Amino acid sequence: MAVSSLPIGRDQFNIAVICALGSESNAVEGIFDEVWPRPTGLGKSNNDPNTYTLGRIGYWNVVLAYLPHKGKVSSASTSAMLLASFPQIELVIVVGVCGGVPHPQSHRDDEIILGDVIISTEVVQFDFGRLHEGGFEQKRTVADSLGRAPSELRTFIKYLSGYIGRNRLREDTGAYLMELLEKPGFHSSRYPGVEADRLFPVNYRHVHRAAGTCGGVCSEAEGRVCETAIGASCRELGCDEGKLLRRPRLRRLLEADDPKLGLCEGIISPDLRILFGPIASGDQVIRSATHRDRIAESHGVIAFEMEGAGVWDNRSTVVIKSVSDYADSHKDKDWQPYSAAVAAACMKAFLKQFADVDPNAKLEPPRRQTFEIEAASSKAHLTRLLALFAIFLLPMSSMLLVWAGRWETPETPPLEPVNRGLDTTRPIFGILGKTGVGKSSFIDLLGGRNRSGYPPEVCHGLESCMTVYLLLGFAL
Ligand SMILES: [Zn+2]
Ligand SMILES: [Zn+2]
Repeated sequence: MAVSSLPIGRDQFNIAVICALGSESNAVEGIFDEVWPRPTGLGKSNNDPNTYTLGRIGYWNVVLAYLPHKGKVSSASTSAMLLASFPQIELVIVVGVCGGVPHPQSHRDDEIILGDVIISTEVVQFDFGRLHEGGFEQKRTVADSLGRAPSELRTFIKYLSGYIGRNRLREDTGAYLMELLEKPGFHSSRYPGVEADRLFPVNYRHVHRAAGTCGGVCSEAEGRVCETAIGASCRELGCDEGKLLRRPRLRRLLEADDPKLGLCEGIISPDLRILFGPIASGDQVIRSATHRDRIAESHGVIAFEMEGAGVWDNRSTVVIKSVSDYADSHKDKDWQPYSAAVAAACMKAFLKQFADVDPNAKLEPPRRQTFEIEAASSKAHLTRLLALFAIFLLPMSSMLLVWAGRWETPETPPLEPVNRGLDTTRPIFGILGKTGVGKSSFIDLLGGRNRSGYPPEVCHGLESCMTVYLLLGFAL
């Protein structure tokens, strides 16, 4: 396990997670290994209106951003500000719930059931196209849509979708999910059960059936539905359970005398599956089995969601969402807490393996090292030390030294350069010594202007400060 320590700068965050719904961000908050206390002192960029939770998941410092609304406009503006405040973000993960395509053409052997996880191999913006007099013409090719993930992410996802990667991912997801759902506050997010997974035929609509209930607005034959019916549950409308489709995967679960059922004790699904495929992303909420299947067929997508398209252009993005409905007229919110928990657990499992392929981006920030040269107790000691140091650095100093700053005590994190927007991704050399032992002279030796007076400024260029602790940034 990684050593936990509060990051000293926003550039130490490499992973961002974006959630739209409260149940989604709640599950992600629950899955953090550590949450950094507020205020962190790390701040955010000017004019950044986002709210963040910062913490650690496994090896990674993770920033969680909350969307003000569902949809791609919201996710696009939130992710743009997030990337301004956290410039070293390598991967944005959109985590939460989605609508699943129960019988996707592209996955003939797979039947998708509620609680399955979908990991995006690409995001298709299905409501992107041209509106003609004659109707809406969708752009159909991959090039016309948002396209595929960058190649490094693609190869990683290819590995994950293979035999070894997928097995590890499923095992870890199950373990993290059990852990999460046993925490206080997550009992109501547990698996709703096989019987609660209901799928009606495509042409069986969610409408008022009793004549005259809504003045004849609802009509199954003509495909009309009133506002009240949209917000009502299947039970309230009397949708006929006798029409429910028989689902082989669910039936196997009901009939199987599976020891795993006992192990999970009904807390998580005994048949946790993770599928990889294209996800449709758009601003329209799909509440129609006919539209769902038409879009799924023409674009090869296996799920529907609303935020991935807004983030996709900005940075490497992956959508990890768990199916909470079938994007049909019967859809409700009953499965959202469980599905949000599954997605958060799978995101954690994803990051565990992602750490293996990018060791430079673990909790230690990329390309940054802080050296404490030595605590100099006497002037003579420091002079010797600095002379040695200068032999190597003097010839290059005017080119390499990009800033100098103070750090009052060794215990205080060197936040000054970070807060002032200086580049702290470069190596930093620290010289520890009492006032008057010669730190300023060393700066003079390197060709800088000595500056007396207190408090000193962190400054661009070569300038020394009368300080207890001095930081020098070199453009190595
Ligand atoms: Zn009605
Ligand atoms: Zn219904």
